[in-house]
Amino acid sequence: LASLKELDGGVPAPNRVQTPDRFTKAVAGEFDNQSDSDPSLPAIREWAKDVLSRVPGSTLGVALVESSRLETNDDVDTAIARARAAQQGWGSLTGAERAKVLRKAAGMLAAKRGDLVEVSASETGKTIAESDPEISEAIDFANYYALLAEELDTVEGARFVPSKLTVATPPWNFPVAIAAGSALAPLAAGSAVVLKPAPQAKRSGAVLVEALWEAGVPKDVLIFADVTEGPVGQHLISHPDVDRVILTGAYDTAKLFRSWRTDLPLLAETSGKNSLIVTPSSDLDLAAADVVRSAFGHAGQKCSAASLAILVGSAASSARFRNQLVDAAASLKVGYPQDPETEMGPIVEPAEGKLKDALTTLGEGESWLVEPRQLDDSGRLWSPGVRVGVKPGSYFHLTEFFGPVLGVMHADTLEQAIEWQNASAYGLTGGIHTLNPDEVTQWLESVEAGNLYVNRGITGAIVRRQPFGGWKRSSVGPGAKAGGPNYLIHLGSWEREDLHP
Ligand code: GLU
Repeated sequence: LASLKELDGGVPAPNRVQTPDRFTKAVAGEFDNQSDSDPSLPAIREWAKDVLSRVPGSTLGVALVESSRLETNDDVDTAIARARAAQQGWGSLTGAERAKVLRKAAGMLAAKRGDLVEVSASETGKTIAESDPEISEAIDFANYYALLAEELDTVEGARFVPSKLTVATPPWNFPVAIAAGSALAPLAAGSAVVLKPAPQAKRSGAVLVEALWEAGVPKDVLIFADVTEGPVGQHLISHPDVDRVILTGAYDTAKLFRSWRTDLPLLAETSGKNSLIVTPSSDLDLAAADVVRSAFGHAGQKCSAASLAILVGSAASSARFRNQLVDAAASLKVGYPQDPETEMGPIVEPAEGKLKDALTTLGEGESWLVEPRQLDDSGRLWSPGVRVGVKPGSYFHLTEFFGPVLGVMHADTLEQAIEWQNASAYGLTGGIHTLNPDEVTQWLESVEAGNLYVNRGITGAIVRRQPFGGWKRSSVGPGAKAGGPNYLIHLGSWEREDLHP
């Protein structure tokens, strides 16, 4: 700790964060010198360039989207009846039999990795460094839920009875991984699924579903439905023949769904206002890099993203930390995903409403450490913004923005920092950077968030190792975490065999 303090102050900061991502480096040619130790990397680079070259004109998924539109309540009723009829066969398979199909699906997703990256980058603006791991996550979901499906067979004295029908409503920000997880979990459990893609990411959902069909999931067991928003969408969500709705999205969307059907069985991961605490006992260089990655990965459009850095005591006055933060944020290469050099892509739609405000206006006592700039006429391309002087209880402190803007708060003590971290109505992710184990313990005992990270960034949960889900208003329903051991059991119920021989 003493040597860390000595290092602080006046030391010139390296001028950029090194993104530890094999694709970013491979694409940028940074691995050239290491091609002997890993001969596959030049091939990865070529692959990435080839995939990205197709992004601007991509039409993948168009045909399925166009043929899957449910325009009327009758269309919805027909789809629901089809799925429930098909569920009988699928649900009567053993967990092990369904697991086989899921493992085939994992292989199919791996085989279609390039297509999935292409379509998701073209629809949402995700960079390859953000899209590629998302395909890995989808594959992990398939393999992990296959394992859980097998476990359903092994419970003695009880039989798992799957839900008949699950509606999956994934978000646009992880159009492959979360769509895959939300469909594969009920499929593993033996439920039929109607997958309604996010309006901004329909084609990604379509390419995913085609891959799952090709792997052997029957078309009526997994129905892809481009449902028009408004009354028809409401009809689907509130339909009495729907046993479970899996939602990842805004807390307000969960509230809206519940207002349509008060007894709606919802399994939802919703909204976040996440922060990373940095104490004076931390490795400040590492902390600065992790703050920037957590705030600006996928242009801040992750539920898990860091919206606030809460600096404690002398961490707040550290010139070195401040320089690192400025350099790392300001040197991010902002652009469109088809440019292999891009590190931060566009936001999914032109900035408006509260996000536009957060990018253009300051609250009382706040100032820009790095001022965000609009880089072209699309309204989608913004450079990252870092505002300092965010006050406890202020608008920026407590509001979710979902974009490339970070607020910095200065706390006197760790207690105060934790209090400010917990002031949010949400509790999805939270982090702390400190090398002091007592501080870690103090924090772990009082932080109110579902996914906690010590000395690393706060995004990028890993299936099985870090099941993902929130507390407080970041979760609606039974609170099971996606990619965790308790998820599948909420997609059915248990019957005692002695009562139902
Ligand atoms: N699972 C993602 C992560 O850990 C976040 C998912 C979301 O944005 O909903 O970063």
